[in-house]
Amino acid sequence: MPRSLVTGGAGFIGSYLCERLLQEGHSVVCMDNLSTGENDNVAHLQTKRFEFIPYDVTRHIDLEGPVDYVLHFASPASPEDYLRLPIPTLKVGALGTHNALGLALKKRATFFLASTSEVYGDPLVSPQSEAYWGNVNPVGPRGVYDEAKRYAEAMTMAYHRVHGLNTRIARIFNTYGPRMRFGDGRAVPTFMVQALRGEPLTVHGDGGQTRSFCYIADTVEGLFRLLMSDNQEPVNIGNPDEMTINDLARLILEITGSRSPLLYQSLPIDDPKVRRPDITRAEQLLHWKPETDLRNGLMKTAAWFRERLERSRVEGKIN
Ligand code: UDP
Repeated sequence: MPRSLVTGGAGFIGSYLCERLLQEGHSVVCMDNLSTGENDNVAHLQTKRFEFIPYDVTRHIDLEGPVDYVLHFASPASPEDYLRLPIPTLKVGALGTHNALGLALKKRATFFLASTSEVYGDPLVSPQSEAYWGNVNPVGPRGVYDEAKRYAEAMTMAYHRVHGLNTRIARIFNTYGPRMRFGDGRAVPTFMVQALRGEPLTVHGDGGQTRSFCYIADTVEGLFRLLMSDNQEPVNIGNPDEMTINDLARLILEITGSRSPLLYQSLPIDDPKVRRPDITRAEQLLHWKPETDLRNGLMKTAAWFRERLERSRVEGKIN
């Protein structure tokens, strides 16, 4: 039975990954300091093959016994979170990655880095292929996340080149689905909750900036295939279906049947104007592409948010 360590395993993507690895027959150790992850995300993983260790991976990591895969997913990942936690974000990308690599080397495990489309910054080319080096402002507020992940990629490649460690790098683009945190500040959960509560949808800037949203089940499939592949180069995992934030807001209004207005607010500093993955490499190497269209994915997501809001309303009444 393979044994996997998932750092950040109680986070949005990390928790689905734990679930998938368990389904594939792995035993899974989830490490998370719950700074942005949530116990609720892994509470349903009740099996002897699953272990949760509350831990901050910016400190030295040790684990008894064999480990076959180390998947480093620990990090604040929404702009609001990493702007609120700039130093922990830098530390988990730098020290956390180094510690996780060190453990992988000691155990001769395969190391998997959750990197991000943010390594491309505010891109000057679109779509972004893995060959693009990016356009990042190192001293801007988003630099704490972008540069930490760029450092993490560099460190991962150094361990691969120097120590011959088996490594993978996934550049994950915008992902959405059930289990996103209510207050994480990202467009999808923010608009969903606002629409369901009948509050105005807070669109940043003129809403003309674009993103490409991938449903969580598709993202996890791509990540798992990359883990099982034999490819050391970075691979974009995302959905190339690009849209403006205005169109996203309108689609969420339609799907939730909400009549909330759009409320235009200032654009955050260095907010990328466009983002769209070129997934040719993933298609060729992993035979992977997203299957869920945005409307279907958003409908599933809306059902989950509706249920959660109702539950917290009822609990609020009881308390
Ligand atoms: N956005 C918005 N209103 C919100 C939250 C986000 O208009 O309440 C915008 C944000 O400025 C960005 C896009 O939606 O242009 C996607 O933001 P998100 O935080 O989801 O992730 P990002 O792609 O910026 O990492």
